[in-house]
Amino acid sequence: MIGNQISLYIHVPFCTKKCPYCHFFVQPNSQDSQKMFLSSLKREWDLRSPLLEGKEIVSIYFGGGTPSLLPAQEIENILTFIQRGPASLSPSCEITLEANPENVTLASMQEFAKAGINRVSVGVQSFDDNLLRILGRTHDSSKAKEALTHIKEAGIANLSIDLMYELPHQTLETWEKSLLEVKSLPITHLSLYNLVFEPGTSFHKKSKLLSPTLPSEEVSLQMLNLAVTHLESFGLKRYEISAFARPGYTSLHNTGYWTGRPFLGLGPSAFSYWEGRRFRNIPHLKKYEEALLLGKFPEDFEESLSFEAKQKELLAVELRLLQGVDLSIFQKKTGILSASLQDSIQNLLEKNWLSQKGMSLFLSEEGMLFYDSVASELI
Ligand code: SF4
Repeated sequence: MIGNQISLYIHVPFCTKKCPYCHFFVQPNSQDSQKMFLSSLKREWDLRSPLLEGKEIVSIYFGGGTPSLLPAQEIENILTFIQRGPASLSPSCEITLEANPENVTLASMQEFAKAGINRVSVGVQSFDDNLLRILGRTHDSSKAKEALTHIKEAGIANLSIDLMYELPHQTLETWEKSLLEVKSLPITHLSLYNLVFEPGTSFHKKSKLLSPTLPSEEVSLQMLNLAVTHLESFGLKRYEISAFARPGYTSLHNTGYWTGRPFLGLGPSAFSYWEGRRFRNIPHLKKYEEALLLGKFPEDFEESLSFEAKQKELLAVELRLLQGVDLSIFQKKTGILSASLQDSIQNLLEKNWLSQKGMSLFLSEEGMLFYDSVASELI
């Protein structure tokens, strides 16, 4: 039953080095902190799992951080306690592990596959070694390609990569070179990210210095268009503003975020969206552990959305999917569209940022380019 479907996100907060653009909660990897994390995660599971009674888990996502730094045996232990919990696991449950190229070996991927991982998402970011250095990454392009081959050889066929654009010193030519590398890769999915100087990151502190080296707005739009043209010609169909997949390989987990499927986030800093409530775990491993040792929910932020806010937000994220939003299905799910939402839709249709076919609403070409403005008009 679709109404019972849920997803799990597990935040594994360890990295060997902090990238200068990264705003996620991560900390140095060590055996002691892994131990603290794993015992706390089990405590959190015991506290939260009664919520899952009668639910079906359709996707589990190990994100971070670098979850591939955990031994495969620990991933297997986590999956075992999830399986023994009150929710059933869908027979086609998508179980994703994020990995960085420098940690991937054939043996480790074989072990992860045995542990139950059936999808890997690799932080490739670029095939340009100069740009990888600027991004502070510790792999080079040949290591990235080798990692993808190992994952495929280990029998994990569902393989995604992340690529970044709008980078300091990146040109249309170097971006095209990276895109052309994609043609021969054994991947089924690709997510695009444009670099954002998030507050608190080292790039943000250096933004005055770095900004003049960024591609102009016009070149950035050309980069996005070039990506769409090349990736689609390689058989990776754009199904969301910045996600591309071969037929049958759209990400089940990410599609849940775009369609309002409830998800529970476990681990320090993980977000959850559950029964109209959004909450975040404490982004600090020790404090996360302390709360759990006291038997408390380890949260430091929560908000309950009003009916109207929930509906606006869901429409804005669901429009990211290129299949559009069927308003009759949407209203069955969320209730009749509020008057203010109907007005916003009308405005966006008049600006040609949205288009309508029968009951379905879509982002227009222009709406896709200026999605942030569409979202702020709706929300
Ligand atoms: S590897 Fe990923 S999670 Fe870790 S610091 Fe870099 S960007 Fe952040």
